[in-house]
Amino acid sequence: MTVKGTFPTDVFQSIETPFYYYDTNVLRATLDLLKKEADRYRFKVHYALKANAEQRILSIIHGYGLGADCVSGGEIKAAIQAGFPASKIVFAGVGKADWEINLALDYSIFCFNVESIPELLVINELAAAKGKVAHVAIRVNPNVKADTHHYITTGTAENKFGIALSDLDKVIDVAQSASNIKLIGLHFHIGSQIMEMNNFAGLCSRLNELQDQLEARGVFLEHINVGGGLGIDYHNPDRQSIPDFANYFATFKRMLKLREGQTLHFEPGRSIVGQCGSLISKVLYVKEGVNRQFAIVDGGMTELIRPALYQAYHQIENISSEESIQKYDVVGPICESSDTFGKEVELNQTKRGDFIAIRSAGAYGQIMASQYNLRRLPNAVFSEDLI
Ligand SMILES: *Cc1c(COP(=O)(O)O)cnc(C)c1O
Repeated sequence: MTVKGTFPTDVFQSIETPFYYYDTNVLRATLDLLKKEADRYRFKVHYALKANAEQRILSIIHGYGLGADCVSGGEIKAAIQAGFPASKIVFAGVGKADWEINLALDYSIFCFNVESIPELLVINELAAAKGKVAHVAIRVNPNVKADTHHYITTGTAENKFGIALSDLDKVIDVAQSASNIKLIGLHFHIGSQIMEMNNFAGLCSRLNELQDQLEARGVFLEHINVGGGLGIDYHNPDRQSIPDFANYFATFKRMLKLREGQTLHFEPGRSIVGQCGSLISKVLYVKEGVNRQFAIVDGGMTELIRPALYQAYHQIENISSEESIQKYDVVGPICESSDTFGKEVELNQTKRGDFIAIRSAGAYGQIMASQYNLRRLPNAVFSEDLI
């Protein structure tokens, strides 16, 4: 069997393209390390389902004993269906609808991460109607900057997410006086695809100040949740296929002054599933342009929207060819100019029928697929099924 990199291209011949290929060895090795490094400090990890909610991926992740971070009623259902215990589900989002809150109350999830006073009041009211007490963490906007794309930074002041530091006292008062709310923690999430540990260290410093202020007011909260956001190396998917969880968790251990009896929680998404997935497409045509050549592939922004949406970089490889390197604009079939995966991409010389792998596509890939142009949603193929 011809294997280029880790791709069984011979087996791919019988699979309809485009599809997502998941290397479950990479996923499991990632989870092994994550678990080991988090357990070292007894940190709790909740997988952020929005990165990838494929049933099979969820069941593998669930097998490692993680909790789930959900941002919709649909995700809560998917997490429960995959076996995540409700006692390990957290529910975030600025716009929780009544039915979603009710669903979460019915399951008695671990915690609502609440983003505004009006939301707090609605949760209180819906919980009262069910005779329940909702466990709540307040999502605080810590006003720390993350060095990432502006579309995926969330922790600065002018941002729809979270409650401003200046409003926190008021929100705590409201939460503590609501009869069907139990305030159990604080929640933060400063952005996504963060590679600089300094950004997380900045969050820790802000949190330490905040904890001092809360202590002065006599407020003790058992749970601190610092969200997700750890980035992956999109430029070298094989050099560092597993993120540096040791350094990540050690940064929080070193920088954050947890109080006696406090538990620290994390919500990683991308760093768990990003590197295990690739979008596999077939080359339909090689078209000579005026000053460039195009490799037109059968996958497009409908399967992987990140390049079009965030100008995201993905490494692109021709996994069928060993010929000399040439430059191609790799484009999809969708009727939008932004349906371009990369410009002047260096590929082994490419012809119709070759397989193109778009790497590091496990997170925010398949889950964001759409049916625009009335396309079919892509299938998922798992390496462990092909042996
Ligand atoms: C998106 C999101 C995450 C996961 O972010 P990653 O960058 O994929 O780790 C975690 N928590 C919240 C609240 C989120 O919105």
